[in-house]
Amino acid sequence: MQLGQFSLQTVSGGRFKTDGGTMFGVVPRALWSRVCPPDDDNMIDQATNCLLVGDGDDWILIDTGYGSRLSESQRRRTSSEDGEPLLVSLEAIGVSPEQIGTVILTHLHYDHVGGALREDESGAVVPVFPGAAHVVQAGELDRATSGRPELRAAYSSDWVTPLADRGLFELVEGDVEWRPGIHLVVTGGHSRFHQAVRLESEGETALYVADLCPTTKHLRSLWCMGYDEEVLVTRRQKVQWLGRAADEGWWVLFDHDPDTAAARLVRDDREEFTVAEAMASL
Ligand SMILES: [Zn+2]
Repeated sequence: MQLGQFSLQTVSGGRFKTDGGTMFGVVPRALWSRVCPPDDDNMIDQATNCLLVGDGDDWILIDTGYGSRLSESQRRRTSSEDGEPLLVSLEAIGVSPEQIGTVILTHLHYDHVGGALREDESGAVVPVFPGAAHVVQAGELDRATSGRPELRAAYSSDWVTPLADRGLFELVEGDVEWRPGIHLVVTGGHSRFHQAVRLESEGETALYVADLCPTTKHLRSLWCMGYDEEVLVTRRQKVQWLGRAADEGWWVLFDHDPDTAAARLVRDDREEFTVAEAMASL
């Protein structure tokens, strides 16, 4: 997709399955299973729709999928892809890791940052994009490396420390226009410093909403993930951002939707949002 001066392409960071209950939090199974039917193990399909943004000079990658360092048991449990799914996707469109100048990370959960590191032939953990600045909220890095016991299931410093040790993080604080037309906005909710990316060019706007609204099945205001740190913040922020997108005709980009990478939305008569126009992939 061309969005003004930006080219946008979906690159898969790998498909996987996750327990349907965890993806819908307090929503009863009888409701979510109607719109998102689980398999016999209660698992549902998930994508990691990373986004490659070209601005004419630089390639900017938003999120990296789960990468190649999952344990065998985790890979099996989540039916995750073997190898380096993100690199396979980039290679398929002729972009090498060395060409990526920037990696924007919406947050530092494994399925977003995992593809930024790999093991080399000697077993050493090395960056996949050694020449790239890895842009993240300072507060998010702080929490990911804090060792706080209550965040132990959400973060592992092993996923981020090798990047920090090499000085590859570029930290931002709060809402910023990071480059002309590329706005980073802190939404909180899913994680305290979770950020979305709003791209604006020549009167067109796309919002990479990330885990504030991971799939089109999460458009309903109260349908949020069990993983959300502050679910009331997610609900509030989601309605606010989806509302702006619907009212102003933005494209909304979904990071975990296996069928819809982007959609334009409309409000229905209950003030909920539905898809007016969808794209499977960009
Ligand atoms: Zn996620």
